Amino acid sequence: MRYIFIFILIITTMNALESLEKKIEKLSDEEKRVILHKGTERPFVGKYTDEKSRGIYTCKLCDAPLFDSSSKFDSRSGWPSFDDEIKGAIKRIPDKDGRRVEIVCSHCGAHLGHVFEGEGFTSKNTRHCVNSISLNLVKKPDTKNENLSYAYFAGGCFWGVEYYLQKLSGVKEVTSGFMGGFVKNPSYYEVVRSNTGHLESVEVVYDESKISYEEIAKAFFEIHDPTQTNGQGPDIGEQYLSAIFVQNDKEREVAEDLISKLEANGYRVATKIIKKSDFYPADESHQNYYDKKGSAPYCHGYVKRF
Ligand SMILES: [Zn+2]
Repeated sequence: MRYIFIFILIITTMNALESLEKKIEKLSDEEKRVILHKGTERPFVGKYTDEKSRGIYTCKLCDAPLFDSSSKFDSRSGWPSFDDEIKGAIKRIPDKDGRRVEIVCSHCGAHLGHVFEGEGFTSKNTRHCVNSISLNLVKKPDTKNENLSYAYFAGGCFWGVEYYLQKLSGVKEVTSGFMGGFVKNPSYYEVVRSNTGHLESVEVVYDESKISYEEIAKAFFEIHDPTQTNGQGPDIGEQYLSAIFVQNDKEREVAEDLISKLEANGYRVATKIIKKSDFYPADESHQNYYDKKGSAPYCHGYVKRF
């Protein structure tokens, strides 16, 4: 029995090797120059430099998943930049130039690019600078095609708002980010430090056949304190103010109606109703923060107000 297993293992390994060899044969000259001979593609010409789609970047040669699109950020370097890797996907080796650190696919050894630390682009302080030509992008299904709806709220520290809204049945995904300001693609620290005009906000993707906009907005008013005028909980500052970003008159009516009901219940509501503007997702380290940490928010909690 054991020998059969070993035999199958050898055959499988041979097949894998063979398919890798076949894949090498199929590479274009430019792909061979970069992937096999550690070349570098010219800046600003790679197909993924400005790519914004959600998905997984895989190794051109062996298809191993390397980077999640949520770790991609705009470094303005001319090459796709990622501040994190899929665990175990990347191997770091000293570059022949004696200065830089080369990164290769830990599965097949394909040359990807270099990694730099300490540049301060994102909170992870790491930039995997990767040649587009070493990658494929497997796009995640576009949620817009699934007939899903989007809603936007700001209620203080986005980790807490995300934590609670994510738990609502019918909500598919909640992303922490920024909205309402005048700075494009702000980093977390820009929003904390300076006046970018942005509020810590969340994007809620939901299935309208399972939960209504009103139910989500109602939950929003009950998981944060809509009467606080200078921030939320212990987080004081403009970026923590309460707001509902509406996309149309229908959402505005729902929001206004809920605020009237709260006022009738004795609450002096500070929540502003603002027209939706561009939403900028925060980097990956700020997503699903409490779930990753395995704890509950300090800044938010459920209070029945309706
Ligand atoms: Zn590979």
